[in-house]
Parts: sequence; C-alpha cells; structure tokens
Amino acid sequence: MLRYSKKNSRFGAFIFSFVIVAAVSAFFLPAVNSTATMLSSNTPQSDSIYEGGVPTANAGDLEKLKQEEARLASMLASIRQQKLSVLRSRPLTIGIIGFGRFGQFIAQSFTKYGNVVGTSRSDYTDIANEIGAKYVPLSNLEGFVMDHELDVIVVAVSIVSFEDTIKDLVPHLKKKMQLKGKDACPLIVDVLSVKEHARDIMLKHLPEECDILSSHPMFGPDSARNGWQGHTFVYERTRIDKMLLDPSQMNRVDSDANFLDTKGVTHNLHENSESHIEGMDRVERFLSIWEEEGCKMIPMSCKEHDEFTANSQFITHLMGRILGAQGLQATPVDTKGFQNVLRLIETTHSDSFDLFFGLYKYNRNSMDTIVKLKESMDQIIAKLLQKEGKSDTIPGAKQSCL
Ligand code: NAP
Repeated sequence: MLRYSKKNSRFGAFIFSFVIVAAVSAFFLPAVNSTATMLSSNTPQSDSIYEGGVPTANAGDLEKLKQEEARLASMLASIRQQKLSVLRSRPLTIGIIGFGRFGQFIAQSFTKYGNVVGTSRSDYTDIANEIGAKYVPLSNLEGFVMDHELDVIVVAVSIVSFEDTIKDLVPHLKKKMQLKGKDACPLIVDVLSVKEHARDIMLKHLPEECDILSSHPMFGPDSARNGWQGHTFVYERTRIDKMLLDPSQMNRVDSDANFLDTKGVTHNLHENSESHIEGMDRVERFLSIWEEEGCKMIPMSCKEHDEFTANSQFITHLMGRILGAQGLQATPVDTKGFQNVLRLIETTHSDSFDLFFGLYKYNRNSMDTIVKLKESMDQIIAKLLQKEGKSDTIPGAKQSCL
C-alpha cells in the first residue's frame, strides 16, 4: 500500500486534480449543456412555458427533469466513488494527542481511511488495539513525533490543557524538522470547541513551517453515536505554506478565495507553488475524511464560530448544568417536554466539567451569554409578579452579583 508523504504529494495532487477535472468535464459538461439546451427550449420567448409572464409547463416536462435529476445523482455517486478510491490509495498517517472520550471517537472513523497513532496521559493501549490504532504513552511524546511518519497531528486534549500540550509538542517538531527538513512538520489540527483561543495558541507557539487547520466537529460520542452523516464540521484553513488565511474571506468557497500572508500579501488558494500545492493537498485529503463520513462541511472563521457557539453550544451546556443542579428525576407522568429536559441534562453531564469550563473560560462571548440569561430570568419573574399584582422583587432574593 502506498503511503502519503509530502514528497510524493505533488504527483498525487496532480493525479487527484486530473481525476476530478476529467470527471467533472466528462460528467458535468454534457449535463450542463443538456440542461442548458432544456432551459433554452423553455426560455421566456417559448409560448409553451410562459403565458402572461407566469411560467407554465408542458406535459412531460416534469418527467424529463426527473430523468435529469436521476442522471446527475448517478454522476455524483460515481465521482464520490472515485474520490474515495483516490483517498484510500494513499492513506494518511494521523497522530492523535489526547486519546480520551473524543480522541477515541474520531480515531474509530480515521482507521477506516488511514493509519492512526494515539497518545495520552492515561494508558489506552487496549482501547487503541480494539480500534485498530497504535498507542504510545504521552511520556514518550518524542517517540510519538520522531518514530512515526505522521502526516497529520490532531490535538484532542481538553481546552484547559491545550496551550501546555502545544508547548510540549514544539521542541519535538523542531527536532524533526532539523533532522528531516523543513517540510517534515505534520499538519497540525485542533478540534477544540472554542476556536479563537486554539488559533491564537497555535499561531503563537508553532513554528511557521507547520501548517494549521482549526476545526470543530459540532458533534460527539453521544450526538453522533450512529455515525457522522449530516453532522456539522466547522473548519478554518488557518495557515498553509506560511500563509495566514484572511478570515474575512472565509465565507468564500469559490476558487478565488485568498490567503493573506504575514506580510500582508494576498495569495490565491490555488496558486502554483510546489509547497503550496503540497500543503493544500494534505489539508484537502484530511478534510475529505469528514466529507466521506457524510459531514456537513462549513468553512468559517474562528471568530465567527465563537460568536455563534456562545449562543448555541455554550447556552445548551449552561442550561443542562443549571437544570442538572436542580436534582430533577424522571416521574411516572413525564411529558415529552420534560423527557427532553432530562435528556439535555444527561448529554451535557456526560461531557467532562473541564469541557464545560473551557467553553466558558476561552470563549470571549460566554459571559455575555450568562448576563443575558440572568437578565431574561429576572425579566420573566418580574412579568409574572406584575401580572399577579405584586411588586417585581422576589422576597428573599439576593441582588445579582453579575
Ligand atoms: P475533555 O475533558 O475536554 O478532554 C479529555 C482529554 O484531554 C483526554 O484525552 C485527556 O487525557 C486530555 N487531558 C486532560 N488534561 C490534560 C493535561 N493536563 N495534559 C494532557 N492531556 C490532558 O473531554 P473530551 O470530550 O475528550 O474532549 C477533548 C477535546 O475535544 C476538547 O478540546 C473538546 O473541546 C473537543 N471536542 C469534544 C467534543 C465532545 O463531544 N466531547 C466534540 C467536539 C470537540 P487522558 O484521558 O489521558 O487524561
């Protein structure tokens, strides 16, 4: 089996691009042409479809469109099949630092596409064996980095231990680059649930030769226990070939999306430098794993991610923790609504308190969310008391300390 490395990646990138371009040309151009032909026969000038400016259809039009739809679906399935075989023909070797709940969860899927090496503080040798991964204790971080031809290192430790972990990793990466050359640094990927913090730490400590992908799979062992299909994967291509992505371009997924390097020079995503192509190829191959598992892929800046998640993920965990503190129990007469409340408590409590604390501490928007929630609670209580004709202060209630 051929293994992926930066050295053979240019050829791989060429073949990969060729297959995709050929497939797209072979399949989509005739489809575009035939769709264009269909549309041109149904232009506003055609009496059959437009009457008084309102589109109408001929008998049989729907049938034709359905056939076209089926043809395109089968083309797409064929392209996916080709993508998968390209991916499997040159599997990545992926290291995972932090082989806890989430690290094991992603390792299970990664082993379908590549070789996986895990490392963590605790001994997870047996679990790694069951999954089909290799295991190295974190006490031998040097061996983890130096003894394996890692294409990618995914850092899946707790948010609170992320900075120390990255700092510990750096000397080994530098040593590897000294011995094997500047392009020997694996792609570093984080999966933290807070993104600006992770991005800042990686940019602060990692050598500039190390490519960086910031990511957040918006699911975990509970919500995606039956597979990743349809679950959201948020990512930012943070740095490739020493070029920092301009976060303002994140919503642009077209071929003109740009990178702004550290000197403020803008580079095209597909520009023709060998190391750029190699870096992009490796990122795309890693992203393809998530695509192949059926994830909904959302490119988004780390900043935007954190703004959204403070009012979605953090508030969910916060409500789960608050409700959990009430000691609520199932009763023989539970409504569906209450069953949902109990489920929320259960899922938020199956994640570690470290995770919850990290969501609070390292998302600059979290305190705003807490303050707004507190205000809303006060407003709703005041409304109830007002309706009852009582004063809007709760007897015995302490003043808010927020
Ligand atoms: P977690 O409590 O956030 O992290 C546990 C992991 O961190 C374990 O691998 C643990 O290693 C490691 N760790 C903790 N303290 C450490 C330290 N001081 N030094 C080195 N390693 C340390 O729980 P998790 O659910 O596994 O999450 C891991 C990461 O994935 C987090 O950054 C989280 O934000 C992200 N994430 C989680 C989910 C989810 O659904 N759980 C979803 C998306 C992203 P040992 O077990 O060896 O002690």
